[in-house]
Amino acid sequence: MSEPGRIRAARARLQAELVECRRCPRLVEWRERTATDKRAAFREQAYWGRPVPMLGEASAGLLLVGLAPAAHGANRTGRMFTGDRSGDWLFRALHRAGFANQPHSTASDDGLELIDAAVTAIVRCAPPANKPTPEERETCARWLRAELELSGARVIVCLGRMAYDQVLRLGRQKGWEIPCPKPRFGHGAEVDCGPDAPLLIACYHPSQQNTFTGLLTEEMLDAVFARAARLLARPRSAHRPG
Ligand code: SF4
Repeated sequence: MSEPGRIRAARARLQAELVECRRCPRLVEWRERTATDKRAAFREQAYWGRPVPMLGEASAGLLLVGLAPAAHGANRTGRMFTGDRSGDWLFRALHRAGFANQPHSTASDDGLELIDAAVTAIVRCAPPANKPTPEERETCARWLRAELELSGARVIVCLGRMAYDQVLRLGRQKGWEIPCPKPRFGHGAEVDCGPDAPLLIACYHPSQQNTFTGLLTEEMLDAVFARAARLLARPRSAHRPG
């Protein structure tokens, strides 16, 4: 089997295993109860109510890592950042930067295609109040760790501090050259993890709290994805900061 074929097969096995995962009792109970109770506006819809797989190809040059599915967003639609306000912001920005074929992501059959980009999260089941516990983050790390093994990403955008910390931690376990002390999280901060690792870019999470308060603006999000696009346009050997 060719290398791309081997990776596609491994990815399919991983996804099939992921969607059956029930390792976190609190999150399993919450994701399923939310899917049964539903929000009034989505009463007629069938909720996904399971772990949410990575969106996009493993070979994508850009990988976005978020926190966790929203109860009535990805936990409803079954697709990362799909069907909630955070996703509205994110996919508009990805489209403006040329990483998505359309600016909206509302349902799994809405025609969205990512262009050299993929989206995943550090926790794959919707947590109450969007707050997974440290134990749940640790338990779920197995899935992101496995995705990073298969990923061809040259740039990783970490959406929020928790994603940033987790990617740095898993990267260190993989042997990436993470600077010590750990670089501080800040919007637009970049971490060079060595010649054989992706470059990390920190980004405020496009949560309603951040966008409503103006902590994150569309211009700030655009700057991050424009930077990622410029890095990906360079040859791999020249994609370090600068
Ligand atoms: Fe499994 Fe992750 Fe969901 Fe926990 S959060 S049940 S580890 S998929």
